[in-house]
Amino acid sequence: MKIYDFLIIGAGSAGCNSASYLQKRGFSVAVADKEGVASGGSGAAGAFLSPLAGVQNSYNSFINSALEYSLDFYEKMAPSEIVKNGVLRVANDNFGTTKLKTNNIKNRYINTKELKDISQNFANIDGYFYENAAILNPYNVCKKLIEKCDFYYYGVDELKYENGSYIFDGFMAKNVILAQGVIKPIVSTPYIKIAPIFGVKIDVKTTTKVPFNIHKSISVSTNKNDSTISIGATKERHDATEMECLTSCDKCAFYVNSEQGQVEELLREARELIELENIEVSKIYRGARATIKSYFPVIGKVIDYDESIKKYPSIKNGTKIPPELLTYFPNLYIINALGSRGFVVAPLLAKLLCEEILDSKKIPQELSSEKLFYKMARAKL
Ligand SMILES: Cc1cc2nc3c(=O)[nH]c(=O)nc-3n(C[C@H](O)[C@H](O)[C@H](O)COP(=O)(O)OP(=O)(O)OC[C@H]3O[C@@H](n4cnc5c(N)ncnc54)[C@H](O)[C@@H]3O)c2cc1C
Repeated sequence: MKIYDFLIIGAGSAGCNSASYLQKRGFSVAVADKEGVASGGSGAAGAFLSPLAGVQNSYNSFINSALEYSLDFYEKMAPSEIVKNGVLRVANDNFGTTKLKTNNIKNRYINTKELKDISQNFANIDGYFYENAAILNPYNVCKKLIEKCDFYYYGVDELKYENGSYIFDGFMAKNVILAQGVIKPIVSTPYIKIAPIFGVKIDVKTTTKVPFNIHKSISVSTNKNDSTISIGATKERHDATEMECLTSCDKCAFYVNSEQGQVEELLREARELIELENIEVSKIYRGARATIKSYFPVIGKVIDYDESIKKYPSIKNGTKIPPELLTYFPNLYIINALGSRGFVVAPLLAKLLCEEILDSKKIPQELSSEKLFYKMARAKL
């Protein structure tokens, strides 16, 4: 039976970037997905690569350094799948003019007249232009990332670990990385509380030239290589504890009969930014992205919460137990909660996770699974 160095469960942005990094470092890698490549949140993604403005803080610093890393990464890895024309950020209720003005990312204010000079189709808007922004084809990028890995169209229901390897139908793996997005994890990780946020993207044929990406509460893309544009937004949140979250929102009862309204809403909001002529909606995508309360993604070893607490019940009273004494599932790792910028952050996260696994480099605290473990263990009930 074939034994891989790594099995990655989940072929979205998180899993495919992890697989690619490991494969390039010389390891044998298999990727398994129950629905196919980029069929979860990643398939529905814009996928816009945009900076995060605002007064500098640890979160937007992380996002903006991840953006620099990922733009360079994708431009080298898949130059034909990325269009880098920049983004115009238009103020909205969450992101007002003050926030857009007060940041240290290079930008240029463009007033309404200047925008109309660029294209008569712009509505009466103004905004801040950031050069370092792009859109990519999420499906083709994920496919390319794993082209040198073995892909299994396969749902993993449980993990069986024997004699140093995990055993699956027809193959084995020495290490496993969980990259499951919003789907219920196959081992218990109660300290990683994922909230699914749902969204819709449409591909639209239009005769209008959109010079760059435009972002307000929704995102409108520049014309991609096939000349279509994408319009997308993730907004809706529903309590997933009441129903199982499926990979594809097309199968979810929450969305039954909601399609038409969502598409019309996207087109209406797009028209408030730019007039799109001769439109035809060519494809509709729906999906959910995974987010946790801190907004930071999470990477690291998978801690066995129950066993660790059983071993050191005094953690709950604040006793400091160092991470190396906790109980971990053997050779099991996680990369998840990529949030609204999953394609922006995944290349850097994959690198950080794999460097911890292969080179024992420490993961930045704000991203680590251990931080979430201690937070839950010490929470006052
Ligand atoms: C509508 C929408 C628009 C978005 N727009 C952008 C954007 O413009 N820019 C951006 O950077 N990000 C965007 N995002 C966010 C981004 O898509 C996500 O953060 C990212 O794709 C998450 O990737 P992932 O690999 O963690 O999860 P997913 O892509 O959801 O992948 C998880 C995969 O795991 C598989 N899986 C789960 N459990 C199992 C199992 N037991 N066995 C086998 N397979 C399993 C699933 O089938 C799924 O394919 C958007 C998201 C949505 C929904």
